[in-house]
Amino acid sequence: MVKQIAIIGGGIVGATAAFYLSHLPGSEQTQVTLFDDGTGQATKAASGIISPWLSKRRNKRWYALAKAGAELYPKLVTEAQLGPDAYQQTGTIVTRKSAKDLEKLYQEALTKADHTPAMGHVTLLSSEAVQQRLPLLSNPPAGVFVSGGAKIDGANFVWNLLERAQQTNLKIISQTVSLTADGDIITEDGLQQFDQTIIATGAWMKKTLTPMGITMKIRPQKGQLIDLKLSQQLAPQSMPVLMPEGSSDIIPFNNGKLVIGATHENEGGFDLKATQVAAQQLLNNAKAFMAHLNSHQITGVRVGTRAYTDDFAPFFGRLPNRSNILVGGGLGSSGLTTGPIIGYLLAHSIFGQSTTDWQQYTKPVSQYIE
Ligand SMILES: Cc1cc2nc3c(=O)[nH]c(=O)nc-3n(C[C@H](O)[C@H](O)[C@H](O)COP(=O)(O)OP(=O)(O)OC[C@H]3O[C@@H](n4cnc5c(N)ncnc54)[C@H](O)[C@@H]3O)c2cc1C
Repeated sequence: MVKQIAIIGGGIVGATAAFYLSHLPGSEQTQVTLFDDGTGQATKAASGIISPWLSKRRNKRWYALAKAGAELYPKLVTEAQLGPDAYQQTGTIVTRKSAKDLEKLYQEALTKADHTPAMGHVTLLSSEAVQQRLPLLSNPPAGVFVSGGAKIDGANFVWNLLERAQQTNLKIISQTVSLTADGDIITEDGLQQFDQTIIATGAWMKKTLTPMGITMKIRPQKGQLIDLKLSQQLAPQSMPVLMPEGSSDIIPFNNGKLVIGATHENEGGFDLKATQVAAQQLLNNAKAFMAHLNSHQITGVRVGTRAYTDDFAPFFGRLPNRSNILVGGGLGSSGLTTGPIIGYLLAHSIFGQSTTDWQQYTKPVSQYIE
């Protein structure tokens, strides 16, 4: 008998789960329906940086998950046959203000790279060497280059994954749905029952699970970034990402597209209004290294809502006492990096194929319920 699977939420977690549910052995016995509203989606508002190795965070589970997520990307890109519009491994440059901190970062990077093949090679760069790799900058700080770092266009990436899955067993329904107390799904066409459901509703997960009497400990955070258009001379192809200490990240895409991001506005919550203040602040931060930028080059401001847990760590797994409902959320500011591995593990679990010990990556879901 064909198994009916529902996914609520079509961001990076839901889309990756949908892709693997259409791709793994067992998919021929499975029909997947994905419900997505799309409003405020963090994935399509994200800067797109995949480079967790030199983060200042010290949460071991988060690091193991983010490392596994970054490792999964090249495999996923090959399996889903995604092109450079969706994913580019052009490396990242992480800077430090003081020479002492830079040397410390470099040594840390070398040590990590020894047992982390996905990092690629690590190079210490002077200010001039940074500028050579990023000719659009003037007088940048010195930094550490990690060749395995990558960038994605979140909207494009997710669209492609879903498009691939639609070719086999995925049906997408673009609407907001809600749950009954029993976990059935209320759609515009009435009540629908599924064998298993994945809830990947990002910052909205608390609201999604409330009808089941479950209160997730998740809070929303507003994030904004700006898209700019550069002249072609200033924008060679395949430039690395710049992650300057204490400032906004600079993400150059091909054909003169530049992204500067992002804000972290706790008090903004679910607000989706783009603000002039944020756009100006992001532009000013970038102008420290790109004095020639001006506000006329801004082509758009993107706004999305991140989901945070109390320990700033993502969680995923089956709901306690509701084994047919799986959740994946609380991805915070690095969810493009951790999202695919979460979607992958959830899909494996649906097919009963997960041999991975999830505790290395996440605390039990119960810890994130009030
Ligand atoms: C400005 C910004 C910059 C960022 N930059 C980076 C970065 O450079 N690198 C990185 O790793 N991470 C980054 N992140 C974080 C990353 O984008 C998120 O953590 C990640 O995308 C979350 O994915 P998700 O699938 O959990 O949720 P989302 O992408 O938010 O998707 C959830 C989806 O569920 C839908 N939904 C909610 N409720 C319902 C319902 N009842 N019915 C139907 N659909 C529903 C929503 O509309 C949405 O489409 C950034 C985030 C922001 C906002």
